Amino acid sequence: MRPFHYTAVETVEDALLEAGAMREVSFIAGGTNLLDLMKEDVMRPVKLVDISRMPLDQIEPTADGGLLLGALARNADTAYHPLVRERYPLLSQTLLAGASPQLRNMASNGGNLLQRTRCYYFYDVGVPCNKRQPGSGCPARTGLNRLHAVLGTSQHCIATHPSDMCVALAALDAQVHVSGSRGERTTAMQDFHRLPGDRPDLDNTLAVGELITGIELPAEGFAAHSAYLKLRDRQSYAFALVSVAAALDLDENGHLRDVRVALGGVAHKPWRDRAAEQASVGRPACSAVFSELAQTVMEQAVGQGQNDFKIPLARLAIVRALEMALGMPADQRAAAEGMT
Ligand code: SF4
Repeated sequence: MRPFHYTAVETVEDALLEAGAMREVSFIAGGTNLLDLMKEDVMRPVKLVDISRMPLDQIEPTADGGLLLGALARNADTAYHPLVRERYPLLSQTLLAGASPQLRNMASNGGNLLQRTRCYYFYDVGVPCNKRQPGSGCPARTGLNRLHAVLGTSQHCIATHPSDMCVALAALDAQVHVSGSRGERTTAMQDFHRLPGDRPDLDNTLAVGELITGIELPAEGFAAHSAYLKLRDRQSYAFALVSVAAALDLDENGHLRDVRVALGGVAHKPWRDRAAEQASVGRPACSAVFSELAQTVMEQAVGQGQNDFKIPLARLAIVRALEMALGMPADQRAAAEGMT
């Protein structure tokens, strides 16, 4: 690990002052990803600003019926918070599907949004990688790409975003609160992360020196009908090959008043297709409609070779997650999926 300066702050104002407008300064809270990246020489901050003592660990109701998650609330505390479990079980499920208990005890909510891809080449400073060193190339396109993206890729990068939590936040239409030298702003979760395009080195839309202060959940938590399905190589401590956060709102006839499908493990950001969701509104909540929705969502998907399997897997996972959100018993799910 390279030498770096370290300073600890207790207020957002001091954090912003310490960071200034230097790209080489990093904020650190739980450090569960950043320290790995520094040890591997992937990230080389000249200064760490420790923000873990700032008073941003609250989880509290908002005036309009939602919930504000402090950026420094731990993932474990968030997952087990009574209001999160009761009103946003989808978020609780995604948090508990991620990492390990030890990591969830350290990782902060803001840090979860900022964790970086687990592309093997990104972590290996001995090989080129456009995300680590723009213009150097993307060996994953013709190399090991089993874990990589099938939607929203570019010729410059096919990495995926690794977070589970962010998939639920995208489905729930969360808002990210940000502070910077120009003041405070709020951005929709869906707009927070970027697709790689020709700047895969930029994971998100934070400006240099900006800091996440909170994540706001809207009043609607889909507590009655939501589910998270994470498919991975082993049952714990593994990143998603494909994951689906599904949420439904039904009218009195069992038709879809609202439907949300967010995917993890398939793109550079949590993936939603709002047009496909909207086309399902007003239709019956059943496996046939879910299957049509899944087909549409995955229509533009392109495999890279080793990850071709993700496309049919994601189609099936979307249907399964929506059936789980609907509350369909397992034996009925199996029968319905055989027909669709
Ligand atoms: Fe780097 Fe992205 Fe290519 Fe991975 S997929 S090697 S992160 S440019």
